[in-house]
Amino acid sequence: MLSLPLLLLLLATSSYSLPVSQDGAQQNVETVWKYLENLGEDMQAKNVDVKEVMDEKLRQMEQSFGLKVTGNSNSETPSAIKTPMCGVPDVTPYSITYNNTQWTKTHLTYSILNYTPHLPRKVVEDAIERAFKVWSDVTPLTFERVFEEEGDIVLSFHQGDHGDLYSFNGSKSHFAHAFPPGPGLGGDVHYDLDETWTNNSDNFNLFYVTAHELGHSLGLSHSKDEEALMFPSYTWNNKDFVLNQDDISKIQALYGPSPNPIQPTDATPDPCSSGLTFDAITTYRGEVIFFKDRFYIRVISFLPKPLINVIDLIWPDLPSKIDAAYEASLVDELRFFKGNKVWAVQEQNVLRGFPTDIHSFFGFPSSVTHIDAAVCEEETGKTYFFVDNMYWRYDENTRSMDPGYPRLIAEDFPGIDDKVDDVFQKEDNFYFFHQSTQHIFNLQTRKIVDAPDSSSWFNC
Ligand SMILES: [Zn+2]
Ligand SMILES: [Zn+2]
Repeated sequence: MLSLPLLLLLLATSSYSLPVSQDGAQQNVETVWKYLENLGEDMQAKNVDVKEVMDEKLRQMEQSFGLKVTGNSNSETPSAIKTPMCGVPDVTPYSITYNNTQWTKTHLTYSILNYTPHLPRKVVEDAIERAFKVWSDVTPLTFERVFEEEGDIVLSFHQGDHGDLYSFNGSKSHFAHAFPPGPGLGGDVHYDLDETWTNNSDNFNLFYVTAHELGHSLGLSHSKDEEALMFPSYTWNNKDFVLNQDDISKIQALYGPSPNPIQPTDATPDPCSSGLTFDAITTYRGEVIFFKDRFYIRVISFLPKPLINVIDLIWPDLPSKIDAAYEASLVDELRFFKGNKVWAVQEQNVLRGFPTDIHSFFGFPSSVTHIDAAVCEEETGKTYFFVDNMYWRYDENTRSMDPGYPRLIAEDFPGIDDKVDDVFQKEDNFYFFHQSTQHIFNLQTRKIVDAPDSSSWFNC
């Protein structure tokens, strides 16, 4: 039996998009090509024509945005790309992928090339230093400012067109950008000199933007987690800055944890805290996986402690705060529920055609708007769906709802008379969870056999 692959590293080093400007001037194309050539030495080795590759990427992008297909970087393409926070566009399917989108050393240097007129030099330097500390606090990375030479990461302010096909236009939608790790432009951070940079809650807070851009400089792409620093919208609220667990997990997947242990952020569930509740629980190939908000807790028999991480890291296409989940072992799928939608997942991929609605897929009447909990009984291939105080039974073999349902939960599962929040099967038992209580229900005797604390799974 295979275990769920730990694809964290692969996922975190996902590809980067080609920087594209609003009105790319031809001479700047050369600069970017040079950058691409530096990054992709193997492209040269393989005699790949970088211009051809880039034009092809643009062609694909134009097609995808329904624009006139020219494959020419001076076309209207870039204006269709939304860059709500920084200028690193989210068009990853059309990006050129490199194997090494992370630094291969842990000690990196940086240099500050010039300054904004809106802040004293000391304030700029302090903001940048604090932004580096955000990342060095949670990784083995160390950063040192250098003065005599160009650092690995060069930070500089520019106006308009500045030679990298990625020009600033004074619009509030594009005020900074950064390049992924690499030589030359790689890792560099560019700020729009024409914007007002601040050290308070006014736009744009230099520390916050720098911390975000440095995420790109270190190899992170944008996050879909709205609370993450790497979420592409500028959301500085001037509260005490705490790096989100989503950002921590992703940067640690690239570089490993800091030698100084850090405290998890408040939102990270503590499996040993009393009164912990779950959104959903399912088995998968012998593991038990608990879901809570944006997190999963995996209980793997050969590990002494459960693994906690963000759902996004394994299943980037799933929503957070799911309602229910179950393992359809007949087809080796996991099925996730939120509202009236179902996602079918194999390993880390959402299958084609999903999410879809539960009415057409399972045959629920339209009065059912959500699923509280679900479990497939391995021996019979019957899936039980719990909704309020009723349950439905679905046959995975015939792919149809069994007649005679819904029925009252309390009638067929004596002792389980409350609403069911989560349920899964282990051997001969269904494990029912409601709030922080757990009831082990034996399927042979049809009786509750035990009611241990819900944290009993976590070796607390
Ligand atoms: Zn960004
Ligand atoms: Zn630039």
